[in-house]
Amino acid sequence: MSRPVIITGNWKMYKTVEEAALFVKNLAPLITKPTYIAVPFTAIKSAADNAKGTQVVIGAQNMHDASEGAFTGEIAAKMLLDAGARFVILGHSERRRLFNETNALVNKKIKRALSEKIQPLLCIGETLEQREAGKTEEIIRSQLLESLADVQLDQHPEILLAYEPVWAVGTDMAATPEMAQEAHHFCRQCISEKWGEETANKIVIQYGGSVHPDNAQDLLNEPDIDGLLVGGASLTVESFSQIANLGKSP
Ligand code: PEP
Repeated sequence: MSRPVIITGNWKMYKTVEEAALFVKNLAPLITKPTYIAVPFTAIKSAADNAKGTQVVIGAQNMHDASEGAFTGEIAAKMLLDAGARFVILGHSERRRLFNETNALVNKKIKRALSEKIQPLLCIGETLEQREAGKTEEIIRSQLLESLADVQLDQHPEILLAYEPVWAVGTDMAATPEMAQEAHHFCRQCISEKWGEETANKIVIQYGGSVHPDNAQDLLNEPDIDGLLVGGASLTVESFSQIANLGKSP
């Protein structure tokens, strides 16, 4: 079963409105397939306006789980859509670690995203301590199943999954392709057990954690790695365009 290769950039808390617009203008002519970028809230509109008619797809990095309400400082799915976002990263390890997001909260956000029709990109992954304690599979399974509780994944093959080992995010210590493949294969096995093999074969699973132009191709060549979630290396057009144009080597 062939799945599309999807590359996503995550700009985290970097870039102004003007910088975002310029980046999209410069990136668009260089890419050869749909390429996602999760930008800061304030830059969604300008990035999305500049992405119109191009292969650049603009998204957000977080949202609230309610449809609207008295939640000072928060952003709703419908506001993201209104500004031009088409997808949203949920459960990123920085949100889990620094803002205490739990699987239960991520699950509510996933369900809200689906009901409001903004494509969710769910991040999961173990810490170094958990890996060293031999708990990688246990953590992957619980994050996956709890974040997707009551979600009919078979009806939502558009949900993107990113395996991002926490120890590899922003550390310049990427997982080896073999380690990443092993974790991705396990994710697919968990999906298959819960929602069936057909669904498992459809879900795009990205790897994230210190991806750069020089390690991206080897990661992408692994059979269960269908894309990449790129933080630091998505901040310059030069490095991101190199990664964005990769596919599986024949
Ligand atoms: C990320 O922000 O999701 C990420 C993987 O960051 P980096 O590529 O910088 O490790």
